[in-house]
Amino acid sequence: MSSITKFPKYNIEAASDAREEMQAEDDLRKPYYTLPVGATKLHILPPLNGQTHPWVAVSTHFAKFGQKTITIVCPRVHAKRACHVCTHIGKLAASHSSVDQDTAKELNATVGFFVNAQIIGKEEFGSKEVRLPKGVIEQLADIASPDLGNCDYTDVQAGRVLIIVKTGSGMETKYTLTMRNEPHALAKTDEDIEAILATATDLTAKCVPMADQDILDRLAGREVRRGGSTAVSAAARPAMSAPHKTPRLLDE
Ligand SMILES: [Zn+2]
Repeated sequence: MSSITKFPKYNIEAASDAREEMQAEDDLRKPYYTLPVGATKLHILPPLNGQTHPWVAVSTHFAKFGQKTITIVCPRVHAKRACHVCTHIGKLAASHSSVDQDTAKELNATVGFFVNAQIIGKEEFGSKEVRLPKGVIEQLADIASPDLGNCDYTDVQAGRVLIIVKTGSGMETKYTLTMRNEPHALAKTDEDIEAILATATDLTAKCVPMADQDILDRLAGREVRRGGSTAVSAAARPAMSAPHKTPRLLDE
């Protein structure tokens, strides 16, 4: 018998747990957090910056250029002005080509919902932007109904911890939302609560479309700098690996 049999063994499961933990940490460093499979507990922050609801709904077009996806907040929905992409979708959809029609479907704006929330168990990150699926937003509306006492789950001192359980994947993904009964404060002191609120982002800024010229530049593969149009050479143009799939957004 070896004399080192008492040596501690490395537990492979612990490695897997560590990997998941690292992934969760990475997710928290991203600009916004998407719900992982399993349970997420969070305290959604109250509406800020003149918002009516604790969430904002953002209509975004995703235009694929090879490996790169360009996101364009829809000016038609959010600024009540003509949207270059929507106009183009209309033309594609009217085409007899099935490729054009598929491209039109891909370009249709999708609605994303965002909240600011404190993630329970990850309080050290302050407030995080969390992207929630539509189904969860609908369940949130039910939870705040008069039948349930119009509970303001966002209250910073007497709100509620919401538990969202994500199961399945792809088309089979399901979300169930439950609310804890006992009140929950974001932090023990007013000062700490204010510090958490100070880390919340202005979600309404997500709903502000770029200027039309910036949209055109972006669709042409030119970089758009914050606060102004322009720049960069054709070298910055994204590779177009699937030309027939590339939305011809500039040939109108
Ligand atoms: Zn649009």
